[in-house]
Amino acid sequence: MSYVYGVDVGGTSVKIGLFSGEGELIEKWSIPTNTDNNGEAILPDIASSIDAKSKEKGISDSEILGVGLGLPGPVDDRGIIRKAVNLHWNDTFNVEEKLAACFDGRLKVKAGNDANVAALGEAWMGAGKGYKNIVMVTLGTGIGGGVIINGQIVTGTRGAAGEIGHIYTGTDTEEPCNCGNRGCLEQFASATGIVRLLKEELENNPDEASEMRNKPLDSKNMWEAVKNGDELSIRVAERFGKYLGTGLSVVAGVLNPEIIIIGGGVSMSGDVIMPYITKNFREHVFHASGDTIFTRATLGNDGGIYGAAALLI
Ligand SMILES: [Zn+2]
Repeated sequence: MSYVYGVDVGGTSVKIGLFSGEGELIEKWSIPTNTDNNGEAILPDIASSIDAKSKEKGISDSEILGVGLGLPGPVDDRGIIRKAVNLHWNDTFNVEEKLAACFDGRLKVKAGNDANVAALGEAWMGAGKGYKNIVMVTLGTGIGGGVIINGQIVTGTRGAAGEIGHIYTGTDTEEPCNCGNRGCLEQFASATGIVRLLKEELENNPDEASEMRNKPLDSKNMWEAVKNGDELSIRVAERFGKYLGTGLSVVAGVLNPEIIIIGGGVSMSGDVIMPYITKNFREHVFHASGDTIFTRATLGNDGGIYGAAALLI
């Protein structure tokens, strides 16, 4: 029997999954992320949690294929991470070597950027199973992107390939994006971006009735309102779709993927979001990419641990 651990490291918690070598999720759990003292305890905490689980299950080191890590920052092919703001990591270091050292070199470690790793998870056991050329966009607080070509994650020179959220939309915003630029895709098409568009529509049309005037302004409520036929919310959905669909048509122009997977919190609102994206995509994309398949992610919040485990498979 062989096993592999997949670890999804976030700013508040670390999710860990124990998988069989065939990709069956045997058990998952989480531990808090300790960001004190520049997050120095994060890797040792992961190592001791994994060692404790192996001991509990009677799994020996020789049965473990390795430990995969998904991290909220750019990670290159060699395992070098440059910065992970959410983890309070400010240095450039080799995260694979550092975690391997926590295991005294007993276990193999592979690391990747969390959005890239989530794409790999969907490719391995989710919506992208059976496809070789995949683009995944994760619509959450920001927008993450992951690109798989010929079954391999594309990391780029500094681990920053697939940063779809920071493609320039052509619309300048007053407020800067988290990256410091203005007019990035994630400022319009993330959950936060949807709220931005919603506020604009409400403020610019003070006399128009909308059910969003009496509800907390969030993406989930906005898509509910779209389903109910709320006209103001439908305009927000159209603007969201224009930014995202057009942005993805640019991505398809470069990569010509077989499938584009939409994940993250916004995708949980269901298929209602899809036509707004695909309509604009098909309008602008180069004809040879016109039949690109669109689908929603199927692994939900577990995509990260699946993908991290897949780094070892
Ligand atoms: Zn940006």
